[in-house]
Amino acid sequence: MRILVSGGGVAGLCAGIDLVAGGHDVTLVERSDHLRINGSPIDIRGESIDVAAKMGVLDPIRAHRIGMSERIEFVDASDRVVAVLQPDEVNDTADDVEIPREDLVTILRAALPTTTPLIFGESISALHDDGAGVDVRFSSGASDRFDLVVGADGMHSATRRLVFGPEHRFLRPLGFYTAISALSASARKDGRNSMFNSPGLMAGITGYQDKALAVFLFRSPWIDYDYRDLDAQKMLLTDAFAGQRKWRIDELLEAAIADPELYFDSVSQIDMDTWHRGRVVLVGDSAYCASPLSGRGTSLALTGAWYLTEALGDHPDDVDRAFAQYERLQRPHVLRAQATAAPGGDLLAPATRDAIDARNEHLRTASR
Ligand SMILES: Cc1cc2nc3c(=O)[nH]c(=O)nc-3n(C[C@H](O)[C@H](O)[C@H](O)COP(=O)(O)OP(=O)(O)OC[C@H]3O[C@@H](n4cnc5c(N)ncnc54)[C@H](O)[C@@H]3O)c2cc1C
Repeated sequence: MRILVSGGGVAGLCAGIDLVAGGHDVTLVERSDHLRINGSPIDIRGESIDVAAKMGVLDPIRAHRIGMSERIEFVDASDRVVAVLQPDEVNDTADDVEIPREDLVTILRAALPTTTPLIFGESISALHDDGAGVDVRFSSGASDRFDLVVGADGMHSATRRLVFGPEHRFLRPLGFYTAISALSASARKDGRNSMFNSPGLMAGITGYQDKALAVFLFRSPWIDYDYRDLDAQKMLLTDAFAGQRKWRIDELLEAAIADPELYFDSVSQIDMDTWHRGRVVLVGDSAYCASPLSGRGTSLALTGAWYLTEALGDHPDDVDRAFAQYERLQRPHVLRAQATAAPGGDLLAPATRDAIDARNEHLRTASR
């Protein structure tokens, strides 16, 4: 089949690799003019490790394994450690692989056959599914026809909006916003991962190899802003930490404001009763974002693309049955991943001073 994949993130690249291996003729379009490789390291967990092995990418993934979340220290304003988060509080099993997002995206890009078009600076602007195929008009003005369209364009998916309706119908905010920015390597002292809390706020420094990152998490009711407007994102981050001068918050905010690739978004989940309509199907965050607090978004992208491809192979002449099989196999992973996100916010950014003290006491007891 001729298949269009919208989005060149983890889900889109996995869909491309798997669908090509399944014998399909695939084209990928990515809205950005480059692969978006920034972000903090992500985890490959559980069943997605087997999927990575079947895709032939597990060895390079393991070769780039890091141990950033092995020890997270919560510190006070004087940088004294007040509690430590041990790896067994965040990992499923010792087999989990933590890898820089940039390395994973680069490995997946390398695994995509060079004959598969990956078109940058392009996105879908309109779709018409007539039952036998999908006519697509692109933002560049080009148009084409495909047998299937796979939306892998992230939490703010344009494919979902065009086919299923506006974002607010599916997006469930968890009450937090997060930001991640690059930091000069020298900012990270002795390889420590340090987090500082004020009620409802967390600012921290993490890193791996010679990289350092500033990370932020703050509680907030829903904010209406243009999620593509970087200046607005920087303003919201600065506003959230206004008046906070303790620890190294000034220094971290300065780095975030200077970063042209700052990652900023609401911490939200996507909830949909179904991930397919006609000849259009969604994978990854566009269909079932679990949020960064779950630590499982990348694993879901790997399993989702795999089940989708397997299902199309099992039912080559019946896309409805294929999509139903994909949803049946993938949904239990999604439910589990989404359920794990809620406690993460309370752990990382407790709402009150008492809750911060209680979290610290809990971690100190657990580590004895
Ligand atoms: C820059 C970036 C940094 C991230 N950092 C973290 C992190 O630190 N921690 C974490 O847990 N998760 C992070 N994530 C999310 C994480 O990558 C996903 O949860 C997970 O890997 C599933 O990926 P996905 O491909 O479904 O979505 P995404 O990773 O969001 O990828 C979607 C891709 O689609 C592209 N796209 C968007 N709209 C369109 C469009 N209209 N047409 C074509 N392409 C489009 C985007 O540019 C992006 O490349 C980050 C995502 C991005 C894009």
